[in-house]
Amino acid sequence: MIIDCHGHYTTAPAQLEAWRKQQIAAIGNPGKAPSRESLTISDDEIRASLEGAQLKMQRERGTDVTIFSPRASAMAHHIGDESTSVEWTRVCNDLIRRVCKLYPDNFIGVCQLPQSPGVRPENCIPELERCVNELGFIGCNLNPDPSGGHWKEPPLTDRWWYPFYEKMVELDVPAMVHVSSSCNPCFHATGAHYLNADTTAFMQFMTSDLFKDFPTLRFIIPHGGGAVPYHWGRYRGIAQDMKRPPFSELLLKNVYFDTCVYHRPGIELLLKVVPVDNILFASEMVGAVKGIDPDTGHHYDDTRRYVEPIDWISAGDRQKIFEGNTRRVFPRFGKRTPREVNASARSG
Ligand SMILES: [Zn+2]
Repeated sequence: MIIDCHGHYTTAPAQLEAWRKQQIAAIGNPGKAPSRESLTISDDEIRASLEGAQLKMQRERGTDVTIFSPRASAMAHHIGDESTSVEWTRVCNDLIRRVCKLYPDNFIGVCQLPQSPGVRPENCIPELERCVNELGFIGCNLNPDPSGGHWKEPPLTDRWWYPFYEKMVELDVPAMVHVSSSCNPCFHATGAHYLNADTTAFMQFMTSDLFKDFPTLRFIIPHGGGAVPYHWGRYRGIAQDMKRPPFSELLLKNVYFDTCVYHRPGIELLLKVVPVDNILFASEMVGAVKGIDPDTGHHYDDTRRYVEPIDWISAGDRQKIFEGNTRRVFPRFGKRTPREVNASARSG
């Protein structure tokens, strides 16, 4: 089985964006805000939005399941206040739930969180619990910078985040460290802000004792880990200068990298420097880079083509990257939610 651990619903029907526009227009005028129920999208519209896109690509590329979350750039936690974020997040997560119900073999949910600049992360716990316990989701996307490029929150290793981490540990769900759109003109969203955040998160983890406090807490750093694998020597050296323990002790039981690197030399580098147990297959399709590489004739984000032919890793290691590691990092993968278990127990 090939599990793609990083996909977003970038092709959602247009009503979703229209609802969001209406919501944003009503900021400061709550009486005009649209209700969640006012968003109407039919099952057929959901099917149509996926059949020619994510599902088509799964079939063409030979991947099986995508761990699927709302469109990351649209989370835009900086817009409005906490109540804006709560409503938008619920709408987006509920739509992911419908996708997963329509295509239970193809998609499994990961949730957006109702973060908002300056608002304590524990306020996201009810939505995480709802998504995991009631909707059957298996992880969350945690935005280290809800300000959208101005970095106003404490580092991910600060106690500010601890109550939320306690809940992640209790529910046994990982978080993908994932920023959203950038409202800082210095940072292009997918080209700079995303990769900055990936690199920044790793540096924060490296210099803290977070994983001493939470030995089972797990994060995926997407987009191949930003600049980290390319500069692995720099980071090891900085850690050594700071008298930090080796990475194997410091964070490799807690921090994972995906394969959203859009050329083969990048994937080879990732596989050479990061232990195979810490690499999860992913493509982030459809979204960050949509085009076809004229050098290869294939989509840049068709990442299976980069991993598959590497012949200096064993079949067992390839299986870990495609499936085994993801099952380990997302232990709820393939398990039923408590509600589903209870429902089947009640029905005998
Ligand atoms: Zn993403």
